[in-house]
Amino acid sequence: MKYGLIGYPLGHSMSPQLHGLLGIENYELLPLPPENLEAFLLEGDFLGLNVTIPYKRAVMAYCDKLSSQAEDIGSVNTLLRDKQGRLHGYNTDYVGLELLAKALGICFAGKRVLILGSGGASLTCRAVAKNEGAAEIRVVSRQGPVNYKNVYEFRDTEIIINATPVGMYPNLEEKLLELKRFPNLEAVLDLIYNPLRSALLLDAEELGLPHANGLLMLAQQAKAAEEIFLNKEIPDSHSWKAKKALEKQMTNIVLIGMPGCGKSTIARQLADLCGREYLDLDILIQEQASCSIPQIFQKEGENGFRLRESAALRELAGKHGKIIACGGGTVLSPENRRLLRQNGRIYLLKGELSRLERRGRPLSDSPEALVRLARDRGPIYEALADAAFCNDFLSESAARQIKEDFDAHFNN
Ligand code: NAP
Repeated sequence: MKYGLIGYPLGHSMSPQLHGLLGIENYELLPLPPENLEAFLLEGDFLGLNVTIPYKRAVMAYCDKLSSQAEDIGSVNTLLRDKQGRLHGYNTDYVGLELLAKALGICFAGKRVLILGSGGASLTCRAVAKNEGAAEIRVVSRQGPVNYKNVYEFRDTEIIINATPVGMYPNLEEKLLELKRFPNLEAVLDLIYNPLRSALLLDAEELGLPHANGLLMLAQQAKAAEEIFLNKEIPDSHSWKAKKALEKQMTNIVLIGMPGCGKSTIARQLADLCGREYLDLDILIQEQASCSIPQIFQKEGENGFRLRESAALRELAGKHGKIIACGGGTVLSPENRRLLRQNGRIYLLKGELSRLERRGRPLSDSPEALVRLARDRGPIYEALADAAFCNDFLSESAARQIKEDFDAHFNN
């Protein structure tokens, strides 16, 4: 093995994909139990390593030399073995966070910064904020003097960074704070990137605050590690390219719209065009209930159906890179709308009311009911959608337009 990632347990990591995009093939994942760490660092077959939880501090004891940033922060996420067999330790999370903050227009100088969590990533956040001249840095720790009970005393907070795993898949709806209780808040960073929009970031979005996930930081720290491994400069544009490629792979294409507007058909066409798996929320609900949607309405009423729908959506919303066809009323609940946005780019499919399929659709089985639904739901669909396209019910044109929009969104 030449290059890879050590940590324990490793779970699902994007590092091999990311390093592949940046240029290093055959990057390996090495889940290393603690009892094997020392032997591997001393005698293992590698040239360079990235290091993750729980070893970012532990590996420092084996380094012959530390970069000034690694020493300042007290954490190493990149190791290089030189020709003499000596280990050099670096911290590239630092430059990752620097680029992330810069990309969002955040300048820490003179700002009051609140950092959630007191682990390895929190140390990096503190170092960047301090070196850039933050006026105040407060670290929120469950057992610390600043904790989640007294945190709202710090109403003057201007920048919040989440450096905890709270909100990470599969706990999509979890968050540690109510952002609206910080009246001076200017920006929010969440180092989590799975989901792409954590519950905290959705709140920031709803409050109209600049916000970003940790994907660019992840790409930039990987690029900086490759510069060390390969001893060559790589432009930041490669980090941006890798970040966008990963973001595109991870994002679901979500179809919403009136019952019978062709979401399932267009979703199947899109699946073929994009080479992605297609998932249909109504089909999943029927499979789970072992009966048809009209039968669920008959037995459990609309409320029962909506409960089943939200439960099924929780399963789908955490997935990545899928085509998801929603039911016509999925978007009625604010919780469902948030779940759809966590990993999705949302497309509204429109069609002439007279051409919408009404069979087997309990809430739109007459022309009058359909007009009422369109009037009530239209504004909700429009507000949620990132883009809208018309289905002509004759060709694949809507699917092609959606694919073009999706590709363009991530290529710009
Ligand atoms: P870590 O060393 O394990 O620290 C996480 C900290 O989060 C803990 O020290 C703890 O602080 C807090 N925490 C853990 N569980 C919590 C809970 N249930 N409620 C409240 N606080 C909790 O992990 P890390 O390396 O700092 O990573 C933290 C997060 O940042 C992870 O999600 C990781 O994926 C992400 N990260 C992203 C990047 C990137 O490139 N985007 C880089 C590094 C890390 P207290 O005990 O003090 O409360």
